[in-house]
Amino acid sequence: MSACPFPAATVLGYPRIGPRRELKKAIEAFWSGRADAGDVERTGAALRTRTRTRLAELGLPTDAPAIPSSFSFYDQVLDAAVTVGALPERFAHLAPADGAGDPGQSPTGLDLAAYSVLARGTEGLAPLEMTKWFDTNYHYLVPEIGPATPLRYADDRVVREVAEGLAEGVATRPVVVGPVTLLLLSKTSADAPDGFHPLDRLDDLLPVYARLLRELAAAGATWVQLDEPALVSDLLDVPAGQVHRALERALAALTTDLPADQRPCVLVTAPYGDVGDALGVLAASDVDAIGLDLVRGAVPAGPVAGLAGKTVVAGVVDGHNVWRTDLAAALDRLTGLREALGPDVAVTVSTSTSLLHVPHDVDDEPDLDPTLRTWLAFADQKVREVVALARGLTEGPDAVADHLTAASVAHGTRRTADGVVRPQVRDRLASLTGDALRRSDYPVRRAAQEARLDLPPLPTTTIGSFPQTAEIRAARAAHARGALSTADYEDAMRAEIRRVVALQEDIGLDVVVHGEAERNDMVQYFAEQLTGFAATVNGWVQSYGSRCVRPPILWGDVSRPAPMTVGWSTYAASLTTKPVKGMLTGPVTILAWSFVRDDQPLADTARQVALALRDEIGDLEAAGIAVIQVDEPALRELLPLRTVDHPAYLDWSVTAFRLATSGVRDETQVHTHLCYSEFGQVIGAIDGLDADVTSVEAARSRMEILVDLADQGYPRGIGPGVYDIHSPRVPSEDEITSLLTEAVRSVDPTLLWVNPDCGLKTRRYEEVDPALRHLVGAARTVRATL
Ligand code: GLN
Ligand code: ZN
Repeated sequence: MSACPFPAATVLGYPRIGPRRELKKAIEAFWSGRADAGDVERTGAALRTRTRTRLAELGLPTDAPAIPSSFSFYDQVLDAAVTVGALPERFAHLAPADGAGDPGQSPTGLDLAAYSVLARGTEGLAPLEMTKWFDTNYHYLVPEIGPATPLRYADDRVVREVAEGLAEGVATRPVVVGPVTLLLLSKTSADAPDGFHPLDRLDDLLPVYARLLRELAAAGATWVQLDEPALVSDLLDVPAGQVHRALERALAALTTDLPADQRPCVLVTAPYGDVGDALGVLAASDVDAIGLDLVRGAVPAGPVAGLAGKTVVAGVVDGHNVWRTDLAAALDRLTGLREALGPDVAVTVSTSTSLLHVPHDVDDEPDLDPTLRTWLAFADQKVREVVALARGLTEGPDAVADHLTAASVAHGTRRTADGVVRPQVRDRLASLTGDALRRSDYPVRRAAQEARLDLPPLPTTTIGSFPQTAEIRAARAAHARGALSTADYEDAMRAEIRRVVALQEDIGLDVVVHGEAERNDMVQYFAEQLTGFAATVNGWVQSYGSRCVRPPILWGDVSRPAPMTVGWSTYAASLTTKPVKGMLTGPVTILAWSFVRDDQPLADTARQVALALRDEIGDLEAAGIAVIQVDEPALRELLPLRTVDHPAYLDWSVTAFRLATSGVRDETQVHTHLCYSEFGQVIGAIDGLDADVTSVEAARSRMEILVDLADQGYPRGIGPGVYDIHSPRVPSEDEITSLLTEAVRSVDPTLLWVNPDCGLKTRRYEEVDPALRHLVGAARTVRATL
């Protein structure tokens, strides 16, 4: 019997926002002064109690640490940084009073106000940066670590939550971002010397984690879960060998070097992908259990040296998508794994990742089609699946025959249900030839477009959306409730378009947009009009902090029954003599921000979406729209974590974009917008997209992207953002002039466009109006120097 028996079933984490977004509402009330910190703490405590009770009801034991303690008020990476006291210099004044964190004293930690400042900033104090968590649409806060950043045990929240569970009779397993991942995801603080990497601080960080483990053990935790997703990614700029050596040191410090009675048993997880060679390092260490993502990753082919006596926590239930598990297939994988690893390795069942990425409960979706509902598993259903699989693994398949049958019946109906396969869509795709992906050579198109559009040098435009005002939201809400008729709602949107077009003419922008007032969301708007998608009512998932999204469910073959945007774009065009830019969301982004069917390759689904968009683009062109933008802000997000998988991904994503956009005539100008400035591995893909004009984020990085593009001899139009729309600050005309002056030095000025970094929907007119006037003024100034 192992000294560290691990429960037969568990999940790696559970949604923390609450089934009715209770946490979001509480914390936003606190930020706006309508509630105090105590109110938010009470909401948090109630949600934690609910989670423990719910997970127990769903079948996880309360006496073995099967129930994760994975709560956060904002973000788990921020929490880890706060736990180890890694406050960047500019936040030093927020640190708790002296004495806290000294050995023997219980630290009091940051209060909610200070914690919120790290996440959101305050007057004159920039927050931590935010970026995407692996290949998900969840965003974490990026810790900043330099040679002098304090690292000390500074916050005992995670320890108190263990005690809180025990007080209610539930033995939880605290979940903490592991030390290697924490440092690999951190950015180097601005004051660090060249060549410094946060990983250089590993030896300073490990004693802090060791202290945390001792405190957890003292509070009664028998297990701790350290999440190390950095092990599955090649995209973190540190060579694998170095990561593995860091992992070895970290695991030795947290297991071998700590007396067994002073630490909990340690589970290290590697979610979001294939653990690869790091499995050998984990197996050779003294950790007690290893969590593998077996949805994305491979089952080891045979015994792994060092695994004997350890537990493999097999993530066979997808934590990152909403489909019901094929339980019989999963059980086969589990038994295959057990046979491969041999009798000395315990195999238990789990999810591949935390359930943070899926909504709470399918049974909370009364409006979903009843058949579709049987194909789905949200967090609560996945817990039941894990419990059933664990029983099947220990007692044999007969013990869970009912579960296996129900799952296979659901999978059977899913294969044959109406709309899952639409022969018309498949036939059209099969009949396309390579010509469907090709336009004329760029110089030919360019000449035709210049003749048609007659734009000045350095043409000015925006990325598409204008501020979503309180009136627009109110009209949409009233329409959804049935309090505003469709005709009245459309009138309100047309009035908004008139206002936005008139404003752009007054400001002097060269290519005008309709403003996207009618779009609730840039993916949902299209999902509601395409076949193959379903929408949820309560299917919220956390995107970052208090921000939640409700991704559509893409379950069947996609087609476009009727035009989706043509009416709005042509209405805008009827109001002005300037060219109006039509505005669509690209295939990769539609996939990235939906829950996508898992019964065919992503590439096939992307081609279907692309074909639907191709139809829309054809209709926009036929209606006289001369400029059409297809946004792909998520192109980078879906980039696989392993570099070996990049060529295939870039091939299908670029193909989908070209399929959508290559059906137009030479004189129709295709734009795309990519929402970020870290191109790295996708820079080649930008060229592959073959768009006539590409706009990118650039204001914060002072246009570094241009140098990279110029090095490649990038031949087509480029619009580096000159106005950082992520901040309420209005850039001055001088500032924009200086950015543009730099830009015309590195790029052929005849290729250069002038635009903001991204859409304006989250900003207010008080900011947007002067900022766009400065942008147009700066473009005119620099134009005069050419
Ligand atoms: N056209 C969209 C907008 O302007 C693009 C948004 C995005 O890139 N995320 O809002
Ligand atoms: Zn953008």
